[in-house]
Amino acid sequence: MAAASLPGITSAAPEPRLTDSHGRVIHDLRVSITDRCNYKCVYCRTGEVGAQYPELGIDEYLRLIRLFVGLGITKVRLTGGEPLLRRGVVDLVKELAALRTLWNEPLDLALTTNGHLLDELAVPLKAAGLNRVTVSMDAVDAATFERITRIPGSFATVLKGVRAALAAGLTPLKVNCVLLRGFNDDQVEGFARFARQEGVVVRFIEFMPLEEGRLWTPEIVVTLKEIVDRIGRELPLVELPPREASETAKRYTFADGKGEIGIIAPVSQAFCGACSRLRLTSDGKIRTCLFSQVEHDLYGRMRSGADDEELRTYILRTIEGKEARHHIGEPGFLKPSRSMVHIGG
Ligand code: SAM
Repeated sequence: MAAASLPGITSAAPEPRLTDSHGRVIHDLRVSITDRCNYKCVYCRTGEVGAQYPELGIDEYLRLIRLFVGLGITKVRLTGGEPLLRRGVVDLVKELAALRTLWNEPLDLALTTNGHLLDELAVPLKAAGLNRVTVSMDAVDAATFERITRIPGSFATVLKGVRAALAAGLTPLKVNCVLLRGFNDDQVEGFARFARQEGVVVRFIEFMPLEEGRLWTPEIVVTLKEIVDRIGRELPLVELPPREASETAKRYTFADGKGEIGIIAPVSQAFCGACSRLRLTSDGKIRTCLFSQVEHDLYGRMRSGADDEELRTYILRTIEGKEARHHIGEPGFLKPSRSMVHIGG
C-alpha cells in the first residue's frame, strides 16, 4: 500500500518503516493485557478460569508499545482475555492517548471487550482518551446469549454496557458476533435489526479453528454469502466500498441507508494479502499471524537487558518473517499452540 493512503500520512511524512517481506505495511498492533476472562463462551473456552500465561506490568506494556509506535504503528487495540479485568487499564489508555505516531498524530486507540464491565468503565475510558470499543455479543436474545457465555444475567449486563459506551461517545461502536451453525445461526436477522435499533455496527466474524477444545469443522462456519443472502431477504443490503486496502470487513448498509453491518470472512474469503496486523500476547511475545506456529519473545529480550535499539531491531527482523497467509481448511493445517483467548482476539 502506498504511504499516502495510510491514515495521517502526508506526502511530507517519513516512509513507513514497518513493511514485511511481502510488501505489506504493518500499522495495526493488538495487545493482550491479560489472558484471564470472566466469560466462558462455549466456542472459545473449555470452562477453565484463571490465567494460563503471565501478565506484564502496565509500564512494561507501555515501553513495548512505544517501541512499535516509534517504528510506524498508528493503531493500537487493547484486548485479552478480557482487558477490562486488568487493573490499570484506564491508566494504560491515558498513557497511550498521550503518545504520537511517527506522523505526529494521536494513535487510533480501541479496545475489544465482552462488555461485562463496560457500564462502569465507559466514562473513565473515554475520559482517559480511548476512541472506540468493540463489544463481543454472540446473540441478541438473552437465553441464547447466556447459554453461550455460561454466565447468568450476562445479556442484560452487556446491553447496559453497550448503551453506556454509546452514551459516553465511544463510537462508532462495533458489536462482533461469531456465528456457529446449530448454536446461534438463528440470530442473523435479529442482529441486523439490533444494529438499526441500537445504532451500532454489527460485524459477523466467521468462526476460525482457534478454540480451546475441538469444535471447528468447515460445516460449522456460517459463511459471508449465507449471511448476506439471509439478511438480504428481510432487509435489502447495499455493499459499501472499502475505506482502506487493509480493511478486513466487507461492509453493507441497508437499502434505506440506516445502519451498517459487516462481515469478516477469514475462512471463506481470506484477506491475508492486505494484512496490516501484529499481535503482542499478554506475556510479551510477538505473533505475526493468528495462526503462527512460532512466537517471538520480545519481553524475554527486554528482561535480559536489551536496550531500545536492540528491541527495535528485533521487532523489524520479526516482521520481516511475517507469514504470507494462513492455511485454514487445507490438508496439513496445524492449529497454533495458543487458542484465541490466550493470543488476544
Ligand atoms: N474478551 C474480549 C471479548 O470478548 O471481546 C476480547 C477477547 S475475545 C477472544 C475477542 C474476540 O474473539 C471475541 O469477539 C470472540 O468472539 C472472538 N473469538 C474467539 N474465538 C474465536 C474463534 N475461534 N473464531 C473467531 N473469533 C473468535
